[in-house]
Amino acid sequence: MDRYEQVTELARRRGFMWPSFELYGGAAGFYDYGPLGARLKRRIEDIWRRFFVIGEGFAEIECPTIGIEEVFRASGHLSGFSDPLTECKECKEIYRADHLIKHIVEVPDALSAEEIYRVMKENDITCPECGGELSEVYEFNLMFRTAIGPGNRHPGYLRPETAQGMFINFQRLLRYYRDSLPFGAVQIGRSYRNEISPRQGVIRLREFSQAEAEVFIDPRNRRHPRFSEVKDIRLRLYSREAQERGQVEEMTVGEAVERGIIAHEILAYFVARTYEYLVAVGVDRERLRFRQHKADEMAHYAADCWDAEVLLDRLGWIEIVGIADRTDYDLRSHMALSKANLSVFVHYPEPVRRKRVAVKPDMKALGPRFKGRAKAIAEALQAMDLSDLKDDTIKVTVDGETYEIERSLVSVEEIEEEIRGEEVVPHVIEPSFGIDRILYTVLEHSYHEEPVEGETRVVLRFLPGISPVDVAVLPLMDKEELVEPARRLFDAFRRCGMLAEFDTSGSIGRRYRRNDEIGTPYCITVDYQTLEDGTVTVRDRDTMQQIRIREDRAVGVIRDLLSGALCFSEAGAPVKA
Ligand code: AMP
Repeated sequence: MDRYEQVTELARRRGFMWPSFELYGGAAGFYDYGPLGARLKRRIEDIWRRFFVIGEGFAEIECPTIGIEEVFRASGHLSGFSDPLTECKECKEIYRADHLIKHIVEVPDALSAEEIYRVMKENDITCPECGGELSEVYEFNLMFRTAIGPGNRHPGYLRPETAQGMFINFQRLLRYYRDSLPFGAVQIGRSYRNEISPRQGVIRLREFSQAEAEVFIDPRNRRHPRFSEVKDIRLRLYSREAQERGQVEEMTVGEAVERGIIAHEILAYFVARTYEYLVAVGVDRERLRFRQHKADEMAHYAADCWDAEVLLDRLGWIEIVGIADRTDYDLRSHMALSKANLSVFVHYPEPVRRKRVAVKPDMKALGPRFKGRAKAIAEALQAMDLSDLKDDTIKVTVDGETYEIERSLVSVEEIEEEIRGEEVVPHVIEPSFGIDRILYTVLEHSYHEEPVEGETRVVLRFLPGISPVDVAVLPLMDKEELVEPARRLFDAFRRCGMLAEFDTSGSIGRRYRRNDEIGTPYCITVDYQTLEDGTVTVRDRDTMQQIRIREDRAVGVIRDLLSGALCFSEAGAPVKA
C-alpha cells in the first residue's frame, strides 16, 4: 500500500470521506464527506475566513451556483473552457489527451487539439487500457449545462468557478466599499467541472469546493500597504527561470519582488498570505512550493500567475491554489457585453491644475447658417486640437457629412481647469483555493506511522484547531460509576462549544488507537482514582504522555492546550506508566 492508499483507506474506514453513490456502484469524480470529513472541511474553511475575511477585510458573498449564459459568454468559459479529449476506438475508454503526452511535452496545456494529436501519432501513443487506436483529439467543454425553467429557451450552466459572482456584483460591491479602491470580495462554495475521466480521488472532482478572493486594485498602484508584514517570509519559489534550470530557489518575499521574480508587491503579498494559511492548516512547509506559470501556460490575459504546489506521495507535485494577476480582463469583458460602466472614478490625492486650449465657435454666425446641425458642428469644433486649426478653412465631419468652416469663425483661448481624478477599470488579483485538495493534503501530510511495542501506531498529527474532534472523554470501563462522571465532563465540554466525543466501546487501548487515527489531540480518561480524588488523566496524542489534572479544571486546561496558551508538560502532574 502506498501512502495515498493508506490515507484513503483510513479516511473511508474512520468516516472522513468516501466515493459518492456507493450504494449504486459509484460515479467517478464525486466524493462524500462523512462525519469527521465534513467537520475537518468546515474547520479548514473557517481558518480561511480568519485569514481572508477577517484578516484582509474582504466581504464574503454568496451567489447562485447556476449561472445564465451571458455570464459565461463574457467570461470566456463558453468558448474556451475545455480540455482535449480522445477516445479509444476499440474499448471506448475516454482520456484527457494532454495527460497521455505529459511525459513527452513539458507543457501540454499550451498545445492545440491538432498539435496534441500530432504528438500522439508521432510517438505511437495508444490506449493505455487495451492498446487500441485512439481517435482524433477534440475540445470538450467542461461546463455542465442545464435548462432554466421548462423547455430549452434559457440555458443555464453550473458555475465552473465562484469568481464570476464577484465580477457580476462589482458595482454593488464598489458601493458597499464606498466607491474606493482597493477592495476585495470572497466566496466559498461549490464549483462544477465535467472533468474527463477523473481518477484521482478528491484531487480531481466534478463537484468541488473553492474559496476564491477577487481583489480589485487601482492598476497604477501595485504596492501593498502591509507588505512589510510579509516581506521576510522565506518561500520556495519555482520561477520560470528556475524551471529552466530544474532547481527551486529559496528566498524572502521581499527579495522576490526586488529581483522582479514575482511581478509586484500585491501579488507577492497574497503568495505570502497563502503560504501562511496553508501552513496554519497543516500543510508541511517542506513539501510546499510556489511555481510560476510559464508564458504559454498562462491564460492570455493574465500578467503573472503562481500556483501553490504540494508534494503528494503518489501524485507528485499538485496545484492546490492558484494566485493570478488577471488584469482588467474580467471587468472589461463584462463591460463589453452588459454595456454597464464598471470603471471607478479615482480621486487624485490633490486636484491637478491643467492648462488647455479651449476652442470657441462663433455661434451667432454658425446658428443661422447650419440651423439644427449647428450644435453638433460646434461640439465637433470644440473637440479639435490646436494643430487642426492651422489652415484658413477647417473641415469638420458630423454624422458622416463634412462641412467647411472659415477659421475666422473660431476663436482660441487658453484656460486653466482643475482635474480631480480619472476613471480607471480596476485590475483583479485572484487567490483561488481548492478546498478538497487542501483537505486531502492536510490528511496526507498529517499521516504518521510509528512502531510502538511491536505494532504500528497510526497517527494523524493535525494541528490543534484543525482536528475534527477537540477532545475525547473515555470512562476507563463501561461501568455506571465511571460512565456517569465521564458523561458529566463530556457535557461540560459541549456546553463550552468544544467538539468532544464520548466513547465507551472496547478496551482503553483500542479507544486510544482510534483517537490517534482520527487525530484527536487529547483524550481524557475517568478512572477509579477519579472517584477518590476528583482527578482525571489527560493523554497527549503526539507524545502519548499522560498527566493528571483536577476534573473541574479539565475544560479550561484543554481549551488552553488547544489554543497554545499552555504546554502539555506544564498542565499537570505526569502519570506513571
Ligand atoms: P483553477 O480555476 O483551475 O485555477 O482552479 C483553482 C483551484 O481549484 C485549483 O488550484 C484546485 O485546487 C482547485 N480545482 C480545480 N479543479 C478541480 C477539480 N476538478 N477538483 C478539485 N479541485 C479542483
